[in-house]
Amino acid sequence: MPEVLVYVDHTDGAVRKPTLELLTLARRIGDPVAVVLGTSTPSTAALLADHGAVRILTSHASEYAEYLVVPKVDALEAAYTAVTPAAILFPSSAEAREIAARLAIRIGSGLITDAVDLRRERDELTFTQAAFAGEFTITSRITTDTAVVTVKANSAPVEQSPAPGAVVQLDVCFGELATGTKVVSRTPRAVSSRPELTEAAIVVAGGRGMNGVENFALLESLADSLGAAVGASRAAVDAGWYPHSSQVGQTGKTVSPQLYIAAGISGAIQHRAGMQTSKKIVVVNRDPEAPIFELADFGVVGDLFDVVPQLTQEIIDHQG
Ligand code: FAD
Repeated sequence: MPEVLVYVDHTDGAVRKPTLELLTLARRIGDPVAVVLGTSTPSTAALLADHGAVRILTSHASEYAEYLVVPKVDALEAAYTAVTPAAILFPSSAEAREIAARLAIRIGSGLITDAVDLRRERDELTFTQAAFAGEFTITSRITTDTAVVTVKANSAPVEQSPAPGAVVQLDVCFGELATGTKVVSRTPRAVSSRPELTEAAIVVAGGRGMNGVENFALLESLADSLGAAVGASRAAVDAGWYPHSSQVGQTGKTVSPQLYIAAGISGAIQHRAGMQTSKKIVVVNRDPEAPIFELADFGVVGDLFDVVPQLTQEIIDHQG
């Protein structure tokens, strides 16, 4: 089996869920080799091995935290040279996409961004993307030897598949550009018990129909009953009801959860661009003509102030 590099997205060794999803996908097309840059712990390697990494390449240099992405690009290039993989997989985070793009240029490789699936067919790798706000599904093949691919969160399940996970030190020589842009300060994100919007398996989103910041508490209760993240349309964000970091859509975040619940959102094309690849879409809207119903797997024509509290109560009762 060819080897497939998987870039590990982590914070001080705590691996984020999309990386475990990448390991599931990598196993479909070869033997996963994980690349961990910066501070990690023995439990980082144990988790990666438990999810299928046959080898784990590590590099602990402080440059990864002190400078922007170029040291990581240098490290990935070193991993590419050491392994000659069939593909290099990244999560579709902003930073990982930048690393992937720079790496693809360095190694003269084709790049696929925001893939939602990948497979090996007759010894060729094919990648699936959703384009034009999800209106088209594209299947692509990369014609260079190594494919560089970023994959949207929630594109595959997290599956345990124990593998040797031998830890190997990766030798990295940083180029002149590596220390060109220094990180001078960091502001920690406000801590929330809810999952990160782009990684959440369930997203509950509200729009102008929420009719005020105070009413978002209804959505938050629903979200907490489901372990979901809360999103918002641009109309709700522009009104100051929810932060821009929660905006879903063309000028916000792209989400692709297992379940997307839209309450009081009309379904403008710019909103759909950010959520149309959700696996199941549930809509609550009092206007039966709202375009969002075109996407709905399950739709309720009704007043969200009646429907959402009842839905939350049903879920709590069902759990209890
Ligand atoms: P509306 O379109 O006003 O819809 C509100 C809905 O709530 C209606 O369907 C109504 O029937 C329903 N409703 C009202 N009250 C109730 C109730 N009590 N119960 C049930 N339903 C109710 N938008 C985004 O979301 N994300 C983006 O990233 C984004 N980027 C954009 C980029 C550009 C360049 C432009 C031009 C626009 C962008 N927009 C974006 C804006 C987009 O065009 C829409 O204006 C916006 O999505 C509308 O938000 P909405 O659906 O919440 O509001």
